[in-house]
Amino acid sequence: MSLEMFGSLGVEACCSDESGLVGNAKGVAFPRSTKEVQSAMAAAWTAGEHVTVQGARTGLCAGAVPDGGLILNLSRMMDILDFSYRPGEAAITVQSGMTLEKLKNALEKKHANTVRFGIQAASHWKAYAASGETLEFYPNPTEETATLGGVAATAAVGPHSLEPGTLVDYILSMELVKPDGTVVLVQKGMRAWDVLPDCTDGGRGALEALCGSEGAYGAVTALTLKLNVKPRLACGLLCYFHTYDALLDFFARMRETVSSCGEMVCAAAEWFSASCGQVLKQERNQAAATFLPEFPRGAAAALWMEFSGESEDSLFDLLGCALEFLEEAGQFPDQALAATDEVNLERLGAMRHVLIEIANCKSPCSQVPPYDWKLGGGAGLACAVQVGKCMEREALPYLLMGHLLSGHCSLRILDGGRRHRAGAAVEGILKEFGCAFSQEHGCGRIKKRLREELDHQA
Ligand SMILES: Cc1cc2nc3c(=O)[nH]c(=O)nc-3n(C[C@H](O)[C@H](O)[C@H](O)COP(=O)(O)OP(=O)(O)OC[C@H]3O[C@@H](n4cnc5c(N)ncnc54)[C@H](O)[C@@H]3O)c2cc1C
Repeated sequence: MSLEMFGSLGVEACCSDESGLVGNAKGVAFPRSTKEVQSAMAAAWTAGEHVTVQGARTGLCAGAVPDGGLILNLSRMMDILDFSYRPGEAAITVQSGMTLEKLKNALEKKHANTVRFGIQAASHWKAYAASGETLEFYPNPTEETATLGGVAATAAVGPHSLEPGTLVDYILSMELVKPDGTVVLVQKGMRAWDVLPDCTDGGRGALEALCGSEGAYGAVTALTLKLNVKPRLACGLLCYFHTYDALLDFFARMRETVSSCGEMVCAAAEWFSASCGQVLKQERNQAAATFLPEFPRGAAAALWMEFSGESEDSLFDLLGCALEFLEEAGQFPDQALAATDEVNLERLGAMRHVLIEIANCKSPCSQVPPYDWKLGGGAGLACAVQVGKCMEREALPYLLMGHLLSGHCSLRILDGGRRHRAGAAVEGILKEFGCAFSQEHGCGRIKKRLREELDHQA
């Protein structure tokens, strides 16, 4: 085994990610196959070098930033390996460097490089191409240039965190090359202790343990993903509220309406504090932000909901109900916006993404670690309301947003210099609510440091 796969070309470019933290490494390898990953891992293992696994380096908390040692960058592993398409059941196996964007394009355009397909996969792909259906990988972790290996390793969650299911429900198996170079196929039903002896919580499912593990167990080289038939119709609704209580009332009524109609699914429900509106207003010149409407004066929060289904009547009934509820409650009915075509759906639904981009430019996570927490049953939002009040008292610019039901919330303070002043107060509130850090945006080095700080203070 030799380390010759690890060169110095490209090392510098691979020493940072979207967190803004810059690390260092002795060499980088860009394998194209599982075999190459195996031999690179085995060589590093034998030489006693530690390896940092990378996908597209879009991570926000420095999980992909090397701290010495060697880098294994899997972004060139982008082939589709297998495909199956049966009534009511479709799956695709991709190399882990496949990006969300490329997968989406292949499925939508029904155009893929099928040279690695066996006879059965090729015939299934042909049947899919001739069908009137479009398949999709339902989880949508927002940043489309991320790789599927990175998405799994960070347990990334985008706007589709509500129904139906979470990321791991859409991963049927993962091929993992362990640090010593051995390869294992991790499938549904396996326990963590069957394949990951170092896992501290061995009774969990092995796939669950790998999701969010940040490359700690090795390199995921391939994933088999469950695909859904994309619903024919989708619509989004952006509306504003004077109070968080009014927002929660509206959300509860909409959920009830969706479940009683039985034909639509609520695919996303994200809320944003009024401070997000102020930041968007200041950043109007940021290209993507220009498409987003201004928050109306007096609004405390905005809610973005996405619905999908097959029935046009149900969809318009749902929008009608939404308007009625807003009117009844006096919650900015004239400012509510609905998008029923793909272009506007994408523009309005981009709020979270645009805000993260603004935060990354103004205040990279390496300078100002973001706070992410997850509390179910409305407690996440209740905690966020307290955090928001604290930020207002401190008069700091900030972004506060989250998912309803999943209870995931996120705070970005946009003033690094004064972060420490507010940090202690925010941490106090998180502790009071007994918050656990969520894995969204990974738990990489920056989050680990923050968690250690909190544990230390506790
Ligand atoms: C504008 C913007 C918006 C974003 N929005 C969201 C969001 O809404 N939700 C969210 O969760 N994240 C979001 N992110 C963060 C990021 O896109 C995700 O964390 C993404 O999943 C990282 O994928 P990646 O391929 O870039 O992985 P990298 O950044 O390269 O790596 C991330 C971590 O995964 C590990 N890893 C990568 N590939 C593998 C592999 N094949 N095997 C084992 N370990 C691996 C790395 O070691 C590292 O710990 C956003 C980022 C940006 C820039």
